[in-house]
Amino acid sequence: MSLPESPTPPSGLADLSARAQHDLACLSYPAKPWVRASPAGADVLNCAIVGGGQYGQSLAFGLLRERVDRVVVFDANPAGLAGPWMTFARMIMLRTPKDLTGPDLGVGSLTFRAFYEAVHGAQGWDSLFRITRPDWQAYLNWHREVTGIDVRPASVVTRVAPTADGLFELDVLSGGQTRTWRARTVVLATGAEGSGARVVPPMIRDGLPGSLWAHTNDPIDFTRLAGRRIGILGAGASSFDNASAGLEAGAASAELCFRRPQLPLSNPRRWMEFAGFLAHYPELPDLQRWRYMKRLYDISQPPPEPTFRRAVEMPGFRLRPATPWLAVREHAGCVRVDTPSGTLEYDFVIAGTGLSVDLAQRPELAAITPGVALWGDRFQAPTGETDPRLSAFPYLDRWGAFCEREPGSAPWASRLFAIFRGATLSLGPSSASNSNIRYTAPRIVSGITRQLFLADADRVFDEFMAQEHHELAAAAVAGVGG
Ligand SMILES: Cc1cc2nc3c(=O)[nH]c(=O)nc-3n(C[C@H](O)[C@H](O)[C@H](O)COP(=O)(O)OP(=O)(O)OC[C@H]3O[C@@H](n4cnc5c(N)ncnc54)[C@H](O)[C@@H]3O)c2cc1C
Repeated sequence: MSLPESPTPPSGLADLSARAQHDLACLSYPAKPWVRASPAGADVLNCAIVGGGQYGQSLAFGLLRERVDRVVVFDANPAGLAGPWMTFARMIMLRTPKDLTGPDLGVGSLTFRAFYEAVHGAQGWDSLFRITRPDWQAYLNWHREVTGIDVRPASVVTRVAPTADGLFELDVLSGGQTRTWRARTVVLATGAEGSGARVVPPMIRDGLPGSLWAHTNDPIDFTRLAGRRIGILGAGASSFDNASAGLEAGAASAELCFRRPQLPLSNPRRWMEFAGFLAHYPELPDLQRWRYMKRLYDISQPPPEPTFRRAVEMPGFRLRPATPWLAVREHAGCVRVDTPSGTLEYDFVIAGTGLSVDLAQRPELAAITPGVALWGDRFQAPTGETDPRLSAFPYLDRWGAFCEREPGSAPWASRLFAIFRGATLSLGPSSASNSNIRYTAPRIVSGITRQLFLADADRVFDEFMAQEHHELAAAAVAGVGG
């Protein structure tokens, strides 16, 4: 059987947007709005989504398709700049293959491919190797417009707290004013940093003036480092990206120092990209999920091959394996770093030391954190397999909702959902990445609609019983002889 020819590619984005609207109309069943207004008031949101990156907007779109109204997405970044792509991400292209799908939620005209072909034609798509950062951001911005979701940019959620009447309150700071919103369900789609904080070794954070160091997630003006020597602690993909960005801006050298004797070579995360794993990992027993994640944490991850090549092809780039930093200090405006093989000197250092998962680091979650279960509360790893890093991950249910730490202590937990770095032990190693939106977003959307429906079950039943549901008019039936 041969597949039908794909339709002629649209001539531009306007055509594609029209095609997407038509596709959405064709897929609109069941179109009936169904979520009853909260008895607490018409201003209560059915869902507040904290974070308007690719996940926040995919979830909002998913809820729209399930006819959930009163959904608002709050994003801290300025309009058009949600997510890391045009701020601290410094790679040329995405690390994932170009044919990834996700924010489209199965609508072909809303895929990245359709977007790219509309702008660059089918040939442009064929010759594309991987998606560039600006193209991914442009795609997300276009998707946001076409889907019509309600995103409030430059709006920082500073507090999420359950209320006695079964809702959540969210304090949202925007334009210097704080407004308190109320919502029946909340999703924390706050990205890699949303479940913890930047990790910076105290010897750097407390021992050096701020002008001499940065974290890879910080804004860095690399033009200021032209002609300078950059030392980077850590050898993850972002460390390579920062080295390349520095060298491309004219730095004299960029060295990556790391503890391991050599770079890891394997990337099992690519192996995991098959439908069964991506879709059903959350159903695995706790022990197996723990073992998958522990192995990934233990072996670490190499940079993607293009990221590696971009860096090593630059003069001035150097890898220093087996080079942990033992002590750092300022010396005559430079940074001196003691290592087991001697002292190194740099003009600027960058901590490529990643992000922690530690809910206690998030001030906006102060009212939430004490009530919810962590893996350490629910799971005892076998001897020899314990890992305090993983014990600190929140223990989420199969829909991505929190669970109570003590039964009865946090009845609101099942209405609070999370898809951030800390969700990955419960929902899958790549669940918070582009490569898994396709499976994880519908899972969370279904968790939210389930909560909204079950919470209203009695009201819905009463409505059902109170109505006649006539299909036929009584007069029409009476007129038929019998
Ligand atoms: C440098 C980098 C490169 C990556 N490259 C890839 C890749 O190539 N392929 C891949 O699959 N994955 C990649 N990832 C991993 C993952 O896909 C990205 O982190 C992705 O951005 C996650 O999407 P998200 O919507 O969950 O979070 P984000 O895109 O980070 O969006 C979160 C949003 O929440 C907002 N926010 C946070 N806190 C608040 C608050 N309190 N109030 C309001 N808004 C808030 C932030 O401003 C941000 O806009 C990369 C990650 C990074 C950091």
